Amino acid sequence: MLLINEIFHSIQGESTWAGLPCAFVRLTGCHLRCAYCDTEYAFYEGKKWEVNAVLAEVERVGGGCRLVEVTGGEPLLQPDVYELMRRLCDAGKTVLVETDGACDISKCDARVIRIMDIKTPGSGEAERNRWENIEALTKRDEVKFVVCSREDYDWSREVIVKHRLHTRVNAVLMGAAAPMAATSEIAGAQGLPMRELAEWVLADHLPVRLQTQLHKLIWDPFARGV
Ligand code: SF4
Repeated sequence: MLLINEIFHSIQGESTWAGLPCAFVRLTGCHLRCAYCDTEYAFYEGKKWEVNAVLAEVERVGGGCRLVEVTGGEPLLQPDVYELMRRLCDAGKTVLVETDGACDISKCDARVIRIMDIKTPGSGEAERNRWENIEALTKRDEVKFVVCSREDYDWSREVIVKHRLHTRVNAVLMGAAAPMAATSEIAGAQGLPMRELAEWVLADHLPVRLQTQLHKLIWDPFARGV
């Protein structure tokens, strides 16, 4: 049984898979409260689904779409997510999981592509990074930094260099935090202009892939189900 926030078909908006049609399964619940979180609605809202029903719904909304992303909230908090991902792989899907980097990623089926956050100090959750995960990453996986400030950028650069992340994974992704208002659950973030981040990356020749959130350029940035 899984607590699911939403299942929908959209354009993959981040990572090296951006731009491709993709079926999304968003699981309810998260144990972090990042300052820039844009899926606060997934903290509590959800409905219980059997794994079989989720598989059927992915087929229905995705119309047979080969690419499926499991996201949240934090999807790895629910034990049955591993069966869901395994069965999606068995069905011939390319399965991405977006995870916050605070959970053990080694239990995912080896066919699953893990897109793992490394939380920067500006997120307010950097102490929750599970550094052992870095050893479990493979060339199929991707890591992502959401940068809130110059301090976050310098911190991220040190982590990349120290762990030679660009040699371990398919891509080191770097994005600028979007401005988010403070709420009772999150601290809120001022946001960082993408151009500033691009100039820092170029000046340092940093081996990262700068990314936008494509779905937010296509649709309203606060729209759900896209
Ligand atoms: S990990 Fe952070 S950004 Fe992701 S859902 Fe949880 S609070 Fe939001």
